[in-house]
Amino acid sequence: MNTQPDPRTKAAVKAADRAHVFHSWSAQGLIDPLAVAGAEGSYFWDYDGNRYLDFSSQLVNTNIGHQHPKVVAAVREQAAKLCTIAPGFAVDVRAEAARLIAGRTPGDLDKIFFTNGGAEAVENAVRMARLHTGRPKVLSTYRSYHGATAAAINLTGDPRRWPSDTASAGVVHFWGPFLYRSPFHAETEEQECARALRHLEDTLAFEGPGTVAAIILETVPGTAGIMVPPAGYLAGVREICDRHGIVFVLDEVMAGFGRTGRWFAADHWDVTPDLLTFAKGVNSGYVPLGGVAISAEIAATFDERPYPGGLTYSGHPLACASAVATIEAMAEEGIVENAARIGEDVLGPGLRELAERHPSVGEVRGLGVFWAVELVRDRATREPLVPYNASGEANAPMAAFTAACKKSGLWPFVNMNRTHVVPPCTVSEDEARQGLALLDEALTAADAHT
Ligand code: PMP
Repeated sequence: MNTQPDPRTKAAVKAADRAHVFHSWSAQGLIDPLAVAGAEGSYFWDYDGNRYLDFSSQLVNTNIGHQHPKVVAAVREQAAKLCTIAPGFAVDVRAEAARLIAGRTPGDLDKIFFTNGGAEAVENAVRMARLHTGRPKVLSTYRSYHGATAAAINLTGDPRRWPSDTASAGVVHFWGPFLYRSPFHAETEEQECARALRHLEDTLAFEGPGTVAAIILETVPGTAGIMVPPAGYLAGVREICDRHGIVFVLDEVMAGFGRTGRWFAADHWDVTPDLLTFAKGVNSGYVPLGGVAISAEIAATFDERPYPGGLTYSGHPLACASAVATIEAMAEEGIVENAARIGEDVLGPGLRELAERHPSVGEVRGLGVFWAVELVRDRATREPLVPYNASGEANAPMAAFTAACKKSGLWPFVNMNRTHVVPPCTVSEDEARQGLALLDEALTAADAHT
């Protein structure tokens, strides 16, 4: 592992980046991106030799950690053999990736449509649902993120939607369950579940169930707050969809492929959707890849009639080779089981213990290697540490927390008033404990604002 400083290279990288890279979600003049020199396992490092424990898994995608040798070798071998081929051909590596994915998705989701990432998966799931039902509308929850392309950003419920919202895409938002900030003023999980399902029924009744093609949910909403649904909620939505002939789409782009300690988050509740979107963990993002797993019934809609959608790089050989190697490595090395064990034995108990000691921690929640720490000014009122969608000065307490993490060598995932503890599924017990110790220190910076 080479962590030697090389300031000349760092300067060149930073200058070219500043001059020519237009960064996502950023005011271009206000950012100073870290120049990354390399990465391995749960760590990445800069040109000055600073090493960071990656408690973000980048954008919650490096489920098997950085530079897994088996996946790196598979991409290399595939590159030597066949770098690219149009989606219309049958190719060994694409067929094998689809077989391995279909073998792990729940129920009869046995056909795989490949995309380059999560948003395109959502776009195509929505198109399939509309064509299958002949209905226009799609329902999604407010506390959600489904991607940054046209339909996906309209479906997204959180404020990232606002600047791009066309408000005309047949999207209707409703409230999902979230006991800590219950939209239904519920006090127990059971109440929250029952009221959330009734609210969905009411929403449907006034929209007209016969106009609704699909309900899309993140199985465990991710960037909007890692809100583990109450027992019975997903089964309840499944039943509502069945009763009204609505396609049930589960977005597992973030929660899938081991993140929650199961192959898919839906496995925790034994729920089978009609369409399941995936990306990120399918190959840990080594090469862009996503897709839709499709039920037999919906797939049959397109047996005689063509599916009107496609992508030049659908089922790209390098992406599929990395997916095959990733899934094999996850199975061989017990990586999903590791995520479950780290969640149960280390992160869950460790975060609850931090919550007891730090007044800024309002709640911790999650499962596997998928945890949210909700930071508040006041535990009694649950007032968030920063206002909703805060920026600039208003966001200073979260900026101070983030800076404290980075200074100590912990790279956090931060969104609004939350930090998400989302290390790779391969994280070791030692690394997880070390990360918790660094988080402990950084939370003191947040406590100063309570
Ligand atoms: N759905 C969910 C649940 C996600 O978390 C994301 C990405 N954070 C997306 C869709 C969009 O994926 P991508 O950025 O690959 O387009």
